[in-house]
This record gives sequence, C-alpha cells and structure tokens, in this order.
Amino acid sequence: MTSLEDLPLRPELRGRSPYGAPQLDVPVRLNTNENSYPVPETVVDAIGKALHAELADLNRYPDRDALALRADLADYLGHDLGTANLWAANGSNEIQQQLLQAFGGPGRTALGFTPAYSMHPLLALGTGTTWVDGRRGAEFGLTAADAVAQVEAHRPDVVLLCSPNNPTGTALDPAVVTAVLAAAPGMVVVDEAYAEFARPGTPTALSLLPGHPRLVVTRTMSKAFGFAGGRLGYLAADPAVVDAVQLVRLPYHLSALTQAAARAALAHRDALLATVDAIKAQRDRIVTALRERGLRVAESDANFVLFEVGGDQGVVWRALVDRGVLVRDVGLPGWLRVTAGTPAETDAFLTELTIVLESL
Ligand code: PMP
Repeated sequence: MTSLEDLPLRPELRGRSPYGAPQLDVPVRLNTNENSYPVPETVVDAIGKALHAELADLNRYPDRDALALRADLADYLGHDLGTANLWAANGSNEIQQQLLQAFGGPGRTALGFTPAYSMHPLLALGTGTTWVDGRRGAEFGLTAADAVAQVEAHRPDVVLLCSPNNPTGTALDPAVVTAVLAAAPGMVVVDEAYAEFARPGTPTALSLLPGHPRLVVTRTMSKAFGFAGGRLGYLAADPAVVDAVQLVRLPYHLSALTQAAARAALAHRDALLATVDAIKAQRDRIVTALRERGLRVAESDANFVLFEVGGDQGVVWRALVDRGVLVRDVGLPGWLRVTAGTPAETDAFLTELTIVLESL
C-alpha cells in the first residue's frame, strides 16, 4: 500500500493533520458551532423551488461573478455597501484562502493571535504563506498596544483578527482593529463569522470600511443563518479587494445551485435569523450555569462558550462523548468549548458535565 510518505508531498505538509473536528453520531452534537435548529419548512420549500428553477439550465456554467447573490448580501449587510464591495465563496474558509492566495503566498507572512480560529494557520500553510503565531494576554485578551507591538515586530503582509474570537467567544475592542489598521503595512482581515450573536452594543468592523481599503471583513451564512451545509461565506471590502480575489478564484467556483439556495435563504432571512435570540439565551444560560458551578468561563459574543475544566481536558471530553455529548477539545490545556444550541441540548450538556466532573 502506498502511504503519504511515499509521495513527493511538499515538505512543509509532511507530518501535518487535516482539519478534523470529529463528526460523531451522538445524540447531542455541540462541537462545530453549527446552528442546532433545522431549516424551517417554509424556507425548505422556498429553497426547493429556487433549486428546481435552476435544474434545466445546469448544462450552462453559473454566473461567474455571482452578481445577484452579491447584491442580496450587500442589502443584508447595509452600511451603504453595494455589489462591488461584496464577494462570495464556498464558506468563509474559501474566502480567507482566496485572500491569502492574493495577499499572502511564498515569501510573505500572515500574523494571527493565538488561540484563534484553527483554520487560519492551516490556510496559511496551504497557500505557502509563513504563519506567525502572535500571542494574547491574560484571560485570552488582546489590547491595542499589544497587537500593535506584534504587528510592528513582524511587519506581516496579512493580519488575521477574529471577532468574536473562536475559540474564546469574546469580541474584539474596535480600538484594536483601528490601531492594527494604522500600524499594519498590509491587509487586515477581520473574521466576523459569529457577528450576529454579539451582545448588544458590540460594533462590527463593517463601519470602519470607508477610507480603509486594506480592511476586509469576512462573514458566513454557516452560523446565524443555519446554512452550514449550503457552504456560503462572503467578504465586504473596497472594490479593489474584490478585483484582487478574482485573480485567484477558480472559474465558476460558486455553483448555480449554491447561488440559488443562498439567495432563497437570504430572502427568508427573518425566518432563519429568528433562532439567533434563542441561541444567545442558551449561550448566556451556559455561561451563568458554569460560573455558578465555580468554573472559569470566557465572555462570549458568539454561539459557543469556552470553559475551564482543569487538568486533562481530553479526559472530560472523552467522558462526555461516552455519555452522548460531543463538545470541542480545541487543544487548550484545561479548557473545552461547547456550542449553544437548543434548551434541551443545554440541559443535556449541563447535566452530563456535572456528572462527569463529580466522577473525576
Ligand atoms: N471563521 C471562524 C472564526 C469559524 O469559526 C468558522 C467555522 N468554524 C469559519 C470562519 C468558517 O466557516 P465557513 O467556512 O463555514 O463559512
């Protein structure tokens, strides 16, 4: 049998593991920050009709520029954004990959502040961009002064900020984004995958776009819209940034079916986003309940919560899986991350966690 070692793989990929959040068939799956609520029947019908309308034309390539979808996304975001400011791809992972292909690459560096989204370094690796692991301060915080000092030390071509941050859940102080923008010599990407779940008063970097052509805000329909299976991510930026990613995107990268399904979902955004408040309530319930049990918990503006179990978090993770609850071990010693889902899922998680922690 041929193994990976036998193939002439790029040396920097040797010994690496692919992204691999476990996809286990357990009753309570709270490990990938999906929206636990199924797509409502009315939206299922609308997406079905939209897909059906495309089927006879599948002999043709889709709109390469996804203009109608981009117009709908601009309408959703507001902030005076138009079609020329928006770009869409198969998930915000693909958007970020395109950004690194266009602005990173061999001989260039990308800086992120760990712990942050685990795909950022992997996307850097895949695009031949040198990854610089920046640090966070106490309680996983990031101050403007600390961020700027690291930007000045490394002079990265791309800075990747994540707000609300995954896995900690906390939104960035907008002063950090402003300061990094002023100090960074290259592009500044703010990954706002969880923006819709932020606590009231949390600003988005979208409002900083005017006058900042090196700023890019990435978003996704995978979380608040409950459209993870549809694979639709997007960015908002100066139109010149959209020109740049078009140099690296594959022709017809967004299928006609994806574009049609995403447009139908956006047309029914009120029905889809109706779950956001319920999820935020479960998020706050988890934070309060875990603190009442004496655990340390990071502030969360997202649909997940990072909490400290102490000791070997892998043991707690395994014991929870054995009891039918899948959470995420993000590799932070002593900490685990749980997605906020339905009230019944919160009940199950809290009950089983109590049992597991008492048994250790
Ligand atoms: N950014 C962050 C911070 C995420 O947590 C995720 C999903 N886990 C993504 C981007 C990518 O999401 P998608 O590709 O589904 O849009």
